[in-house]
Amino acid sequence: MARPVPAIVILGNGSLATARTIQQVYPGALIHGLADRVIGADRVYREFGATLRDLYQQDTPIIALCAAGIVIRTLAPMLLEKGVEPPVLAVAEDGSAVVPLLGGLGGVNVMAREIAASLDVAAAITTSGELRFGTCLLNPPEGYALGDLELGKRFVSDLLAGETLRIEGAAPWLVQAQLPEDPLARLAVHVGHAEREPAANELLIYPRNVLVAVSAHVANLPGAIRDALHEAKIAVQSIACVLACDTEMASPALREAALELAVPLRFARDVGSVGELARNAIGQSVSIFGDDAIAIAVAEQPLDPSQIGRPRGRLAVIGLGPGAAELMVPAVKAELARANDVLGYETYVRMAGPFRADQVMHCTDNREEMQRARHAFELAAQGRSVVVVSSGDPGVFAMAAAVLEALHESTDASWHNVDLEILPGVSASLATAAQAGAPLGHDFCVLSLSDNLKPWEIIEKRLDLAAQADLALAFYNPISRSRPWQLGQALDIVARHRTPETPVVLGRDIGRPGQTLRVTTLGQLTPEQVDMRTMVLVGSSTTRVILRPDGRSWVYTPRSYGDKLIPIQQ
Ligand code: SAH
Repeated sequence: MARPVPAIVILGNGSLATARTIQQVYPGALIHGLADRVIGADRVYREFGATLRDLYQQDTPIIALCAAGIVIRTLAPMLLEKGVEPPVLAVAEDGSAVVPLLGGLGGVNVMAREIAASLDVAAAITTSGELRFGTCLLNPPEGYALGDLELGKRFVSDLLAGETLRIEGAAPWLVQAQLPEDPLARLAVHVGHAEREPAANELLIYPRNVLVAVSAHVANLPGAIRDALHEAKIAVQSIACVLACDTEMASPALREAALELAVPLRFARDVGSVGELARNAIGQSVSIFGDDAIAIAVAEQPLDPSQIGRPRGRLAVIGLGPGAAELMVPAVKAELARANDVLGYETYVRMAGPFRADQVMHCTDNREEMQRARHAFELAAQGRSVVVVSSGDPGVFAMAAAVLEALHESTDASWHNVDLEILPGVSASLATAAQAGAPLGHDFCVLSLSDNLKPWEIIEKRLDLAAQADLALAFYNPISRSRPWQLGQALDIVARHRTPETPVVLGRDIGRPGQTLRVTTLGQLTPEQVDMRTMVLVGSSTTRVILRPDGRSWVYTPRSYGDKLIPIQQ
């Protein structure tokens, strides 16, 4: 698997040149610049602390161009909680110092050397083993796995105390290291895929050169894979990937097994047997175990799983929330980071970005929703990780239903095999309501006033009944150039059941630059005060307004009718 792309975080324009130099070492890395201080960054952030902690939590390697102390203080509250951590480095603004801070096992020293080389300075490496031996023995390269970290730490401290070591097996990355080698040493680095008992005097490193091809129908799949490997005297740590037939792509058992074994899951075309599947994939001698249900293939060199078969494609329909980055749920941020393709209405795709150079944006017009949904499935069916963006929540007058409709219409098995997930967002009605107080604090009704996809008579009927039922009302798509008269008519219908004093909240571009929030009444509301970027909330008969000291007001709908409010349950 490729190394994750780091984020370069800067606080002022003075560090932009250094940041650009570092960016050349990591193509695709984005420069995050503090709003109002940095001009020309790839991504703008407002709060340094929250940004850094977000990146850290998402395992994104961090290169912060500021004092090491600031970085330490910012991440300090999270350090104890985190098991495996991403590399974190502080780099002096002017590029004169590169200080690896965290993530020794994630390759921070390797990064420090790469960055230092690009800036033509020396990295401030402080890891004793690394300094003495020129490599971190506990951080083998891509394609190899360390047996046991705790035993490993002991092993390195014995070495630092003056012991010598032997190298057994092929460890090409150690050829350049300055290790105290001695053929008679008590300590040994042992590289191999054979199952082996851990011992204090051995640093076990497993090449990931074993492919396990399986059928999804095996009972207790992870257990069966372990047993088969044990029988073949092969270490579980050497599994590079699990391979299955693409007709079994949607099998939860396969997904869970790969998750439990912590290995990638790949798929290939059905060729009759798992043995053939494995042979086709790597063309090596293949051992078959179990009733033709598990095949084990061992390659000479570590395997690159990304070159074997293809992954199950993924399609996530995500909600960005109203616009502000703080209101985007973390699962959506993570999904955007893993996406290969991003589809959506151009405004929303831009709002979700910027994206790395390796990510493909497919911007379309707002009206081409079904075509967009089908395109998303076509891409995901090829094994890509695809994101379809909506503003607010994807299930509220947005892409989630269009995507499911496209799937429902399709008989293509490869579409039905896609790993489909809908990730929620803060919908405009809720974002607007929160800013105004709690106008939707009791039962409410959400309606789109657009008659593009439903007859106007139905809208009238629903409005009438909802208003009659004394529900608070939230209007999406209240008006547009092609639908100029509908809002006026809708308000007339509501007025049949509500007094002119009924509070109304107008939220425009909520969570976006230039947002406005206005509290008015049904009697004063005119369609001219509303446009297609506005959310209209109409209160029920009990909705009230409180004046705030700053002259603005809070709007809320009590949780009950009558004078006696329901006591808050603890
Ligand atoms: N899926 C979106 C709604 C899409 S329909 C959501 O859950 O929010 C588009 C309508 O939503 C717009 O016409 C407007 O009425 C409302 N809307 C979307 N974003 C908004 C925002 N930031 N502020 C106010 N209204 C918004």
